[in-house]
Amino acid sequence: MFIFYLRYYKQEQMRKFDAIIIGTGQAGPPLAASLAKNGFKTAIIEKGELGGTCVNTGCTPTKAYVASARRAFVAKNSSEHGISFEGNIKVDLQKIKVRKDKLIADSHAGLEKMLEKEENISLIRGKAVFANNNTIEVNGEKISAEKIFINVGGRPRVPEDFKSVNYLTNRTMLELEKVPEELVIVGGGYVGLEFGQMFSRFGSRVTILERGSQLMKKEDDDISEAITQIIKDSGINVLLNSNCIKANQANGVIEVEYDCEEGVKKIKTSQLLLAVGRVPNIDDLGLENTGIKTDDRGFIQVNDQLETSVPHIWALGDCNGEGAFTHTSYNDFQIVNSQLFEERKRKLSDRFPSYAAFIDPPLARVGLNEKQIREKGIKARLAEMPMNKIARAKEKGETAGKLKIFIDAETDKILGATFLGTGADEHIHTIIDQMYAGATYRVIRDAVHIHPTVSELLPTMLENLKDL
Ligand SMILES: Cc1cc2nc3c(=O)[nH]c(=O)nc-3n(C[C@H](O)[C@H](O)[C@H](O)COP(=O)(O)OP(=O)(O)OC[C@H]3O[C@@H](n4cnc5c(N)ncnc54)[C@H](O)[C@@H]3O)c2cc1C
Repeated sequence: MFIFYLRYYKQEQMRKFDAIIIGTGQAGPPLAASLAKNGFKTAIIEKGELGGTCVNTGCTPTKAYVASARRAFVAKNSSEHGISFEGNIKVDLQKIKVRKDKLIADSHAGLEKMLEKEENISLIRGKAVFANNNTIEVNGEKISAEKIFINVGGRPRVPEDFKSVNYLTNRTMLELEKVPEELVIVGGGYVGLEFGQMFSRFGSRVTILERGSQLMKKEDDDISEAITQIIKDSGINVLLNSNCIKANQANGVIEVEYDCEEGVKKIKTSQLLLAVGRVPNIDDLGLENTGIKTDDRGFIQVNDQLETSVPHIWALGDCNGEGAFTHTSYNDFQIVNSQLFEERKRKLSDRFPSYAAFIDPPLARVGLNEKQIREKGIKARLAEMPMNKIARAKEKGETAGKLKIFIDAETDKILGATFLGTGADEHIHTIIDQMYAGATYRVIRDAVHIHPTVSELLPTMLENLKDL
């Protein structure tokens, strides 16, 4: 009777907000702060850990592990530089994990403080489900708002063929306390490669199974080949063209089957990581109770301002399928925020795609690559340079990779760049900034860069353009 009364009372007293945000990923919290500052009474709802994927199971923890793996690699491989270590080099995964957990805890504390100090923000812990276009149900309570922002992110895709085994995902990999002897990774995208190289450096015997004919399949063939060589040189067994991959488990041992067209081959392993893409967290969000449409890839459909098909509901971050990175999610916040509160209106179409894979050496991309330029039939010119011709790379003893910059042959503007090599994740920004400035390639060509750096070669490369 009392529970019935409480439910009835809650429904009668439906809390009304000016804005509701679902999810505390990379867009939700800064948007909550801005809405609150602009006088909006805002509810932000989170069903899991504050900060979402990047903070808890994505960028922060993986890049902390990449840093530990790099230390292990340097400790084991410095004799050519005249440095040797006596005795064993020990990898202590528990300690690596403690360091990672501390980084995450610090982020949680910062985020919680930021959300709770603001009078206009109510942080609600629970799972949000749409009841209709203006109403959200959370913890049995209905709340409503004139404006709703969806920032629910995504989760790892788990194909049916693996559901019966104890597979690992990016989340559970980061909970391991002992370095596994063997690790089989299904998927040759950036998540698989980053985990593969780091665990190989920690001491696991790693195999990467990729269904396609190359690792990082969106990249140009020469870049994918160079990446494959880097990964193989890390001691990883790379099996490309591995069709019909599936797994069984008996007595704690996982058996992975692949290549069924040429006869079935099998690998036994104690640990199996699935890194075969991600799906948006929208299947249980109650979208069927709203007018929100999804696209044919299963993401929430948005326009250039990130409005869904219901104009007072926006979708930001990985769930809109327009980007799958922290910087794209944060930029989604900037777009929506500018549309609401700023004079200069930002749009999705202003953004150049950019990303990095934090293997060692890293891959960094902005704009179009050679494959895409050829597909689009754009008349372009190319500047390229192998890393083994660059003084700083030679001095460091890190000469794997190459740099490619693409120029529009008609406008002289930069179409994009692919940098694979030491420091690529930082010096790609030289190109990114010029692209946002709308500059021609001549601005970089005529600049004087510092010696000895990798960036120093960018002006020189641009002196020697060839037709694509
Ligand atoms: C292993 C790995 C490494 C990565 N490394 C990088 C990197 O180096 N650089 C980079 O830019 N990107 C990286 N990414 C991608 C990056 O983590 C995401 O793109 C980024 O977190 C943006 O996510 P988001 O803002 O869309 O939402 P998320 O960060 O996924 O957050 C969504 C939040 O919504 C909550 N939520 C979902 N449904 C509901 C609901 N119904 N009710 C209430 N709350 C809900 C979730 O619990 C979650 O907290 C990595 C991803 C992975 C998996």
